[in-house]
Amino acid sequence: MLKKLLTLRPSLRSEWLSVATAAYLLFFMNTTFWRKSTAYLAGQDFALSALAVGLLGAFAAMTVACSAKYIVKPILILMLFSASASAWFMDSFGITIDREMIRNAVETNTAEAAHLITPAFGMHMVAYALLPSILIVWIKVLHRPILRKLGVNLLVVTACLAAFSSVAILNSGTYIFTTREHRDWFPTLNPIFPIGSAVSFALKASGEQNIVVAPLGADAKVEDPLSGQNRKPRVTIIVVGETARAENFQLGGYGRETNPELSRQDIVYFSDTSSCGTATAVSLPCMFSVYGRAHYSHAKALATENLMDVLTHAGIKTEWWDNNTGDKKVADRIPKKELFRSDDRRYCQNGECLDDILLAGLDDWLDAVDTDAVLVLHQLGNHGPAYYLRYPEAYRKFTPDCRTVDFEACSKDTIVNAYDNAILYTDHIIAQVIERLKAREQALDGAMIYMSDHGESLGENGLYLHGAPYMFAPDQQTKVPFVVWTAPAFDQSIGLDKACLAGSAQAPHSHDNLFHSVLGLMQAKTKAYNSELDIFAGCTSGLSVMKKQSQLGRG
Ligand SMILES: [Zn+2]
Repeated sequence: MLKKLLTLRPSLRSEWLSVATAAYLLFFMNTTFWRKSTAYLAGQDFALSALAVGLLGAFAAMTVACSAKYIVKPILILMLFSASASAWFMDSFGITIDREMIRNAVETNTAEAAHLITPAFGMHMVAYALLPSILIVWIKVLHRPILRKLGVNLLVVTACLAAFSSVAILNSGTYIFTTREHRDWFPTLNPIFPIGSAVSFALKASGEQNIVVAPLGADAKVEDPLSGQNRKPRVTIIVVGETARAENFQLGGYGRETNPELSRQDIVYFSDTSSCGTATAVSLPCMFSVYGRAHYSHAKALATENLMDVLTHAGIKTEWWDNNTGDKKVADRIPKKELFRSDDRRYCQNGECLDDILLAGLDDWLDAVDTDAVLVLHQLGNHGPAYYLRYPEAYRKFTPDCRTVDFEACSKDTIVNAYDNAILYTDHIIAQVIERLKAREQALDGAMIYMSDHGESLGENGLYLHGAPYMFAPDQQTKVPFVVWTAPAFDQSIGLDKACLAGSAQAPHSHDNLFHSVLGLMQAKTKAYNSELDIFAGCTSGLSVMKKQSQLGRG
């Protein structure tokens, strides 16, 4: 049987196999790209057909350049697998595979990744990558003698590139105009863009290997209006949310009761807050960095100490509890607990834990605190696509809720129901943090700041999940909920006028505010502080002192 199969092996010259693979990649692995091309070039049939010819030239140049004995089959098969995987995520979730998306994929954990590897994904990979790969293995490739092969390859590559260039030049006006109008167009070209992103990520990552962390705010110290008097410790808990979007927060006007518990608390809700990035790997380090979105880069954040370090320099006790996928190096120099590694049956299964695990040790920790302290609770929040695993049964209020990670099997309404249940549960977690601080009013002055890292698309314009390049990311991915609660005694101790703070809550805010606001709240004075980004600065009586400090610092 095997012998018979082997004698039946078709044979093909290596350059033809390469061209055929190029055509397959371009026309079968680019559903999203061609859907966008036909929409964006509507009515311009010549430019559209020319695009197909030109890109076939470019793809063929790429594959024929690899057409050499021993390497041609492995390279073509590698391209098939990476293109098929990319196509799946682009076509079913509207995801763009840029450098930051690659960073997310690299920095994720197995439990998170497992939710994306569904049976449907497996079937897609078998049909579009494995079967064509078997065909490539089966085919007998005919190679010319080495020098002739070099000559032929060079000729074919030159001809392909010439076709590509002439198409590009002939239609340059149309393509340049359309690309400017639709920046999301070419990033969907598969596998050119994903492979380019992976190379760019690898180059960046290797450049970041030997980064030395520069100190920041070494001059920080707590100088407050009540100096000299006995006061209670100030304890701020920062709850870093995950994938919660502002649009689904009742506090911001959403039509559903997703914030019943926070609605009963005396909180300030900042209703127009923008995230720094559209994915955890960007937003998290950015929120805690001194740079702000305009000046942030992954390398700069790694090379400089962050908010947690500055607080530590000021003599404030700092700690980080993580129920997400890690602190992305923000808590490298402070005590941290990686709760997501727990196997506590009450909260955890299959390598993931409900956010209640963040509350489990909180009472003991708060009872032991006898100094100014900042504790970060990093939630699992609304991490998708398995929203239904993010809340316990008691918070399954909006039904029917989508109970699979295969979105195609769920209606949009049931996906939103599951998402809203997870927001409802987050509402409970945040309110519980406030309640536990309130319960210790005699012992400490408490504050709670909640900010989500980025939002989420739930099918609007065919987009799901998050991670869209910021410049064309929809508001659903970049507008995040931001909640502040302070105990009345805390307000008194720093001269904070809560009505004034509430009055500023409609104004635009962003992740840029977190760094300076926490320093302001904790009365930590340092050259690294900028009162203009401190949401409390304009509403505290200590403002003049703080302004003077920061001006001295910057001058
Ligand atoms: Zn995130």
